[in-house]
Amino acid sequence: MTAPEQPSFLGDRPFPYCKGCGHGLVARGLGRALAGLGLDPSQIVLTTDIGCVGLVDPLFPAVHTVHTIHGRSTAVAAGAVLADALLGEGRMKNIVMIGDGGATIGLLHLTQAALMNVDLAVLLHNNMLYGMTGGQHSALTPEGFATSTTLQGNWVPALDMEQLLRGCQAGFFARQLATDAELATVIAEAIAFPGFALVEILELCTGFGVPLNHMDGKALRALAEADGRQLGRLIHRKDRRPYHKVYRAHFPAPSGPPGAVQPPEAPAPAFPHRLQRPVTLVIAGSAGERVQTAAATLCQAAVLSGLHCVQKNDYPVTVGSGFSLSEVKLSPEPILYTGTEAPDAVLITSADGLREIRGRGDLGRLAPGALVIADESLAADLPVRGALCLPLRRALSPAAAALGAVAVLNHRRGILAREALLAATAGLGGSAGGILERALDAALSLAPEAAARSVEEGRP
Ligand code: SF4
Repeated sequence: MTAPEQPSFLGDRPFPYCKGCGHGLVARGLGRALAGLGLDPSQIVLTTDIGCVGLVDPLFPAVHTVHTIHGRSTAVAAGAVLADALLGEGRMKNIVMIGDGGATIGLLHLTQAALMNVDLAVLLHNNMLYGMTGGQHSALTPEGFATSTTLQGNWVPALDMEQLLRGCQAGFFARQLATDAELATVIAEAIAFPGFALVEILELCTGFGVPLNHMDGKALRALAEADGRQLGRLIHRKDRRPYHKVYRAHFPAPSGPPGAVQPPEAPAPAFPHRLQRPVTLVIAGSAGERVQTAAATLCQAAVLSGLHCVQKNDYPVTVGSGFSLSEVKLSPEPILYTGTEAPDAVLITSADGLREIRGRGDLGRLAPGALVIADESLAADLPVRGALCLPLRRALSPAAAALGAVAVLNHRRGILAREALLAATAGLGGSAGGILERALDAALSLAPEAAARSVEEGRP
């Protein structure tokens, strides 16, 4: 797709903002800046934040838009910049639109992008309060400015973005009023700047800022001056390379055009497997009882067998107490969806684990023919019939119960070779590997009646 002569970046939708809101002026300024730069709309990514500022997405129908969660727009955009520059063709222009609330919430994302000098233009809409949620103050609310949470005037000074970004050695910083005639020009300069650029645009929220402070747009310049905020292009230095160039200096690109670069071949599997379709399982027990180690061992064994795998761990805020849980997905094909909708197996080794499994509802959405393995102490409390209840804790010890359950599952379903699990436990090293290796062998004696069957055939 080639760029039209004068692309009309702003669509014909009415603005979604309150009458007189400064966000509309910034949107117009951005539209003019993009048109002036003559950029191809298909090579522009607009990443927006939560708040009234994030309502801008549909106003720019021709460009790519990414609507992120509060404060994270800069981090998401920085990832897109680096992916494009290092893995793609590096042709995309990335612009972030964020409010003062989002900038405050995601302050470290901003400073990190500035420190790294990610090639990104950030338009910080500073109306000095959180507009969408009712006019609360932010870290960019000036001293004396009234908001719904500082009705008598804020008594805390505002963060000075210029000083902050100077400290981050940012390459480009400008502070403008939304009403400035040259706003579009400055935005265009920020977009064209080869590195991190931020334009702080001072504006007024007509929903809260104007009525609470009895002021109009004309007073904005005086407010900035009274707060010691200079206007104009305040930082402009080109002595730093953008991060993707620094990265390439450390890790040179493979030679040849992008399409010609082949990913390295995966090493040949060390063990056979019998898995013919993706399977998901959930392992739950108590913190400190090697639940996640058991899941990691299974994954390691799967990788050694040439399978793809995903492991997701969960535990309460109070790390080291309560439940510990792992979701594992194994697949002969690359895994594109990592969620667990209907587990093929649920392994529960303690009351903590059962409580968590009940809370998540895993036992109510089992896949047809799913296998439930539980410690014998839970037999009376299990809300499913046909579960395989074994003396995992008593016979193997609480710390080896989860790995024992994994071994029994593998024995029942015949997914992996026993040697693959043994090789994976050997990788744990020290006494842990030896303990788990013995547990693995002992576990199989707990369910001798269970003949090994393939996952496709296996039904409890
Ligand atoms: S609440 Fe404030 S920031 Fe939100 S649209 Fe209205 S004027 Fe603009």
